[in-house]
Amino acid sequence: MKKTIVRRRKITLFVLIAFLCVVTVFAAVFRCAILIKQNYVVQLEQNLADVSEQNADALKEQIQIRFNLLKSVAMRFNIEPENRKENLYMFEPVADAFHLKRIGFCDEKGMTYATSGNITDLSHRDFFIRSMKGDFCISLVDSDAMDDSGEPLTIMTMPIYDKENQINGIAGITYTTESLSQELAIKFFNGMGNTFILNEAGTVVISSDENIAATNKNMFDLLWKESAVMKDFSPRKDFLDSKFKDYDKGDNKFSTIYLNGVEYYFHVTSVKVMENNAEWWVLSMVPDVFIQDRFATTRRNLVRMIIIVFVFGIFAVLALRQISIKRRKLSYSYAFTSLMTGGPNLNYMTLVLNRNDVVSGFVVVMNINNFIHISLAIGKSKSEDIIKKIWEILSESETNDDFFCHNKSDSFIMYYGAKDEMELKGRLLDLDREIQDEAAKLHLAWIKPVFGVYQFTRKELLEYAYRKAELALQDAVEKKAFYAFYDDAEQKNQLEIQEKEEHFKDALLFDEFIIYFQPKFSTINKELTGCEALVRWNFRGKEMLSPDKFIPILENNGRINRLDEYVFNRVCEYQSKWKKQGLPLVPVSVNLSKASLFRSEIVERYCAKIKKAGLNMSDIQIEVTETMVSSGANISELLNKFRNHGIKILMDDFGTGFTALSTLNLQCFDTLKMDKSLVDGIEEDFGRRLLSSIIEMSQKLGYYITAEGVENENQYEFLKSTECNDIQGFYFSRPVPAEEFEKILQLQNVKY
Ligand code: C2E
Ligand code: CA
Ligand code: CA
Repeated sequence: MKKTIVRRRKITLFVLIAFLCVVTVFAAVFRCAILIKQNYVVQLEQNLADVSEQNADALKEQIQIRFNLLKSVAMRFNIEPENRKENLYMFEPVADAFHLKRIGFCDEKGMTYATSGNITDLSHRDFFIRSMKGDFCISLVDSDAMDDSGEPLTIMTMPIYDKENQINGIAGITYTTESLSQELAIKFFNGMGNTFILNEAGTVVISSDENIAATNKNMFDLLWKESAVMKDFSPRKDFLDSKFKDYDKGDNKFSTIYLNGVEYYFHVTSVKVMENNAEWWVLSMVPDVFIQDRFATTRRNLVRMIIIVFVFGIFAVLALRQISIKRRKLSYSYAFTSLMTGGPNLNYMTLVLNRNDVVSGFVVVMNINNFIHISLAIGKSKSEDIIKKIWEILSESETNDDFFCHNKSDSFIMYYGAKDEMELKGRLLDLDREIQDEAAKLHLAWIKPVFGVYQFTRKELLEYAYRKAELALQDAVEKKAFYAFYDDAEQKNQLEIQEKEEHFKDALLFDEFIIYFQPKFSTINKELTGCEALVRWNFRGKEMLSPDKFIPILENNGRINRLDEYVFNRVCEYQSKWKKQGLPLVPVSVNLSKASLFRSEIVERYCAKIKKAGLNMSDIQIEVTETMVSSGANISELLNKFRNHGIKILMDDFGTGFTALSTLNLQCFDTLKMDKSLVDGIEEDFGRRLLSSIIEMSQKLGYYITAEGVENENQYEFLKSTECNDIQGFYFSRPVPAEEFEKILQLQNVKY
């Protein structure tokens, strides 16, 4: 369930990321395309402006040349006015040289004579009228009026002055627009661009596109008409102002316009034809298709690039996915299979059994007896071979109700779905026989499996079942048996021990050990004479354990010295604190186990600790048991070392060991603590006599006597009648926490 949700979330996330990637790529491409197009348009504007201006310059130059020519022609006609007609022939080579159609003049009445020999009355023409008034004129493009060619041409005229400076005719030159356009770069942008030269009225004087020129004689009209389809429709004047006439500001104009439904980019440049004449215009334009064409190539490349990137991206993602799947599979196989046998491992078995509803059966742990020694003898590779062989045998015997795994080294864990103990035992015996047969074939006769069995009858986690089977296995190994079943009571105890052992380190760190103090009182006057430090374990902060629940365990696993040192340090700290508080200190005795005494430099370290706490050596005493002292000579040496430093040694539990009297001779202690069993004997006559004799004898030997476990007045009164120095027991006080003992010390303070 959880997995599906996670999976669904993953897919949603993936789709979202993929969508964002696609959108980002498209946005980037779109933005890129716009920028590229803008860039093209900027370039185009520059190119159009260049063409336009170049043409404007060329046009100006052409007109200036013709004007100069016309001027000299007019002057020439002026020299011999009466011979104009006759002299006309002289201009013929000039006309040819300048690619003019003809050179001619009009008399005062408008009769026109030309080098081509034509004579026509042009008195009605605008240029005649205007030039007779003194103007220099360039006519609009018109079809030839002097012959039948209908050729479009332009006439340039200026007045002829006589000697009195009176106008007596006009001189003129005519030239075809073709001759003018030859000089102009009117086709450009791969033939897609057009240039038009318009006169002041907007009429096309020269055109690179005869079609446009033929259909649209007046470009202003055309633009006016077309402006109707433009978004920014405006009255003609405004439109022309906005499109053309901003040259006063020194601007050249670049914009777009629709002509015959086609969008054109255009650029106009004004040309002052002559100082006294109106403005002409050079209009250069190129259709939008030109940009589209150029852009199309770029766009195609861009699209190709995107497709390549996309395809590569998809391949990369798929490849990465493949790698990660492979890695996952690999780590999965490492996590769930035994590298040695290739079979499932404990992780996998735990997963399978915990997941499935296994409610009863047997969990069996199988080891090979003494496998460590065997593998050292036969070598690593042979050991591995035998483990693999055992796994083979196991796998073959596995039924559908079973699940086996190889845990580590020679440890195999098996779940048997067997119905009862008999059936299981039969299968284990079969297995044992098969393994031993196989081992014999390999000349390894000493290979013997041993089994720990745990039977469960309700659903249990494999981790727990496995631990119990392990405990049963330890039991089988200890008993040198072929197999052992998990015994609940015994194993519960084992489990508890294991738990305590595992938690011990943390307990020290978390201060779970608490020191209690049991006071000792004088037999004579009941005054406080000292106390004994007794440890308790506040196990995981939940249960207060008495020493008999953990001291034997720690003595067994060799960790007792760490606890003893901890108690010793804590006692020093308490004494130091009470000393600083000004309380009258009494000696506190600390119990030491045998293992603690064997630690190196124990005397030096403990003495240093006492000194460091600012205490006297007499403030701390050490209790050791009688059995410990009698077990070895070097212990008495060690104890005397303590005594030499001024630390008193108390012999604990005196009277419980068999060697009680002989230990008195060791002379390595100061106090004898009569064990509770001796005190309990007070109730009987023999016991009373025994105790009083021991006390009397000890007194004579110079020992200080403490009686332990005094519980009633009768015992106290009896001990008072002997030479016993002080008393420790519930009759006076149970062991109490530090705070309570502090109060007892305070009371003592009040007394004195
Ligand atoms: P122990 O050294 O013989 O300590 C005296 C034990 O007798 C204490 O038991 C104390 O509570 C108990 N006791 C004292 N007066 C009476 C009495 O009137 N009647 C009865 N029934 N019992 C009395 P506790 O505290 O349970 O300690 C048990 C043992 O644990 C100690 O015996 C000692 O051998 C060991 N122990 C305690 N603390 C330490 C320690 O820090 N290190 C080591 N190594 N052993 C310790
Ligand atoms: Ca003791
Ligand atoms: Ca004792």
